[in-house]
Amino acid sequence: MKIAVIGAGISGLAAGRELANAGHEVVVYEKSGGYGGRLATRYAGKDLSQKLDHGVPFFTAKSSEFKKFVTELAAKNILTTWEGHFAKRNEDGDISDLDHDTPFYIAANGMNSIGKYLGRNLDIRLNEKVGGLTHIGENRRKKKSWMLNFPTALTESADAVIIAAPARQAYALLNTTIDEIETLKLIREIDEVEYDSQYTVMAGYEEANLPSWNALECDDEVIQWISNESTKRTDGAKNLVIQTSSEFAKEHIYTDREEVKEIILDRLSTILGGWAALPEWSQIHFWRYSQAKNPLPHDFMEIKGNETPLALVGSYMNGNTVESAYLSGLRLGKHWVEQFAD
Ligand SMILES: Cc1cc2nc3c(=O)[nH]c(=O)nc-3n(C[C@H](O)[C@H](O)[C@H](O)COP(=O)(O)OP(=O)(O)OC[C@H]3O[C@@H](n4cnc5c(N)ncnc54)[C@H](O)[C@@H]3O)c2cc1C
Repeated sequence: MKIAVIGAGISGLAAGRELANAGHEVVVYEKSGGYGGRLATRYAGKDLSQKLDHGVPFFTAKSSEFKKFVTELAAKNILTTWEGHFAKRNEDGDISDLDHDTPFYIAANGMNSIGKYLGRNLDIRLNEKVGGLTHIGENRRKKKSWMLNFPTALTESADAVIIAAPARQAYALLNTTIDEIETLKLIREIDEVEYDSQYTVMAGYEEANLPSWNALECDDEVIQWISNESTKRTDGAKNLVIQTSSEFAKEHIYTDREEVKEIILDRLSTILGGWAALPEWSQIHFWRYSQAKNPLPHDFMEIKGNETPLALVGSYMNGNTVESAYLSGLRLGKHWVEQFAD
């Protein structure tokens, strides 16, 4: 069976790997130029040689299925635990230890190395944004059930489709099928999912002495989290990654990005000291869909039946984390392997 996966984040890649291992022809279409989605790594610094995780800074593992994947990644030296001191700052500016009873996992070569590993044996088409879906249907049996439409006017067909994008983007894709097939139930349900947004500022400080902590969690109107990236890797680069509160991001959604960056760096200097306002270089990124506020109580969603298979996977199923994304993709993959076994 030819299965099209839309989105090369961890949910789409986990589903794709499972189905490809079972012998299905899997093609992953990804609109950006890289793998991993929000498991994102930016090449930055003066000569673009330094890696920074500007999406998820670290993640944890609870379920046995995800712990198994973590063990697989650790055995390949892709994943390791983030060792060292974590701190938190309350609204009065007092600093104390941030205790955590489960390991924080990071990828020393950048979070996107997880996507690269998961997708290494898959046919992944980068820079291919799927613009819409047309249901061809069971009446024209010589053709496949689905046609994927691209902005370039090219099309591709598939027997089954997995949409592995944030709920808002999945909604836009599903809407293109609305008159043709019973997708209304899925559309109504994912329409309810709301997202937090976040700004991320990446900043390099070659001349400064960075704080000794790995990360600082802040109870602050502007800044929510500061990662000291130099504690993740051994390249000697001295970089901070600063993530804002969702309230701040919402308030400044239409503000000029350079202005937003200045506000964040200014606030950073209040928290860390005047030196922090003057990095050698800095960049800003806006995450419109950072984490779902009200996830859906499913592992995945699908149009049932063998004629027009279509499924939705993603971290907004049963959570808003890297783990929930992986589990959603893995469980759909296992379910379809069983359902579509010859
Ligand atoms: C700033 C930030 C902080 C976070 N902090 C944490 C944390 O502390 N702990 C934690 O566990 N998680 C955290 N997360 C959330 C976690 O990163 C995500 O939940 C998870 O990575 C999502 O995986 P996914 O596969 O569901 O979606 P994504 O990673 O978003 O992948 C979807 C992919 O689909 C592609 N796509 C979308 N539409 C189309 C289209 N039409 N055609 C082709 N491709 C398309 C996108 O480009 C993207 O690559 C954080 C995320 C961010 C951004």
